[in-house]
Amino acid sequence: MTDLVLVTGLSGFIASHVTAGLLSQGYAVRGTVRNKAKGGRIIEALSNNGIDTAQLELVEADLGEDTGWKAAVKGCRFVQHIASPFPLEAPSSREALVPEARAGAMRVVEQALGAGAERVIMTSSMVAMMGQAGRGKHMRVTEDDWSNPDWRPLTAYPVSKTRAERAVWDYAKAQNVSARLTTICPGLVFGPDLYDNGGASLAIIKGLFSGQFPVMPRLAYPIIDVRDCASLHIKAMTRPKVGGRRLMAASNTLWISEVSAILQSAYPDAKLPAREMPNWLVKIVGLFDQSVKGVLPDVGIFHEADAGYVSSLTGVIPRPAKEAVLASAASLIENGQIKLDS
Ligand code: NDP
Repeated sequence: MTDLVLVTGLSGFIASHVTAGLLSQGYAVRGTVRNKAKGGRIIEALSNNGIDTAQLELVEADLGEDTGWKAAVKGCRFVQHIASPFPLEAPSSREALVPEARAGAMRVVEQALGAGAERVIMTSSMVAMMGQAGRGKHMRVTEDDWSNPDWRPLTAYPVSKTRAERAVWDYAKAQNVSARLTTICPGLVFGPDLYDNGGASLAIIKGLFSGQFPVMPRLAYPIIDVRDCASLHIKAMTRPKVGGRRLMAASNTLWISEVSAILQSAYPDAKLPAREMPNWLVKIVGLFDQSVKGVLPDVGIFHEADAGYVSSLTGVIPRPAKEAVLASAASLIENGQIKLDS
């Protein structure tokens, strides 16, 4: 019988690639959506990308409610819990996203492990690792790093990701089932967009082209191509020795100004930003602008992922960040989300 995998948040940027990979590798997929009409659009987008969707079924479930999760996990050999609130602009209350992210993760993980899923893969983030005071100007992030959700400069999104990941590990340890749980902690995810979902990370590429950021904050994060991030999610289901581990999904690091320069070289007629905003000015803007406030703790710091162990454990060797950046722009231009003046 075909192995069934539950993918939560089917409509998302990462989940759509995980689903495409699973279906291509012969798995059956049950995908959760909050609204079946949106689910229909993702099925159409996958088909348009040459994926056979005969083995894909949709179920409705919301992380904020109990309804639907017990039925969703039933019969699934593996669970990919990818959904989480990821708003373009974070709410001002630091704890606002925690109920959906943490209680939602607990709903999925408890139900899945209780129903006998062999392994649960949960998408966390490197924001659940980097948010600590005293990082200096260069932080080499390791699997043992944890953000401190009580550190005041952290805003709603990293607080929610940290509290959610902590909660599922605490639960798995208390139940003595850590070996059936793996978390994936991606850096900044770029790459081709299978489905126009308005995701937060591709909004950065769109914003650079649209002139939304005439000057850029000085930020540097490890980047991962979404195709490699998806491969890692899938390998984590069956590779030995990844149970109980936090796998960073990360290639090399680029400053946002380097991302812009790569795009400018590829698209010389586009008007991309070339200048960085002084750090003191970013701090002032962050007092008024919630999206800038979210990155304030990271300004001026070069974050690098110490992720060699992930390739050893999974066999996935992520492509260079530059390829992910260029692939994002190419697909956003092709599907009309970025318009170049002719
Ligand atoms: P998207 O915004 O594209 O996808 C988020 C998904 O979560 C959507 O399918 C959304 O459904 C679903 N979702 C949000 N809230 C709920 C809810 N209350 N109940 C059910 N589903 C919900 O994000 P990405 O694909 O980029 O991110 C996926 C995961 O990866 C997230 O956990 C994110 O934190 C993590 N991540 C992403 C990174 C990136 O750079 N993209 C970096 C590091 C981690 P709907 O369509 O209905 O809104």
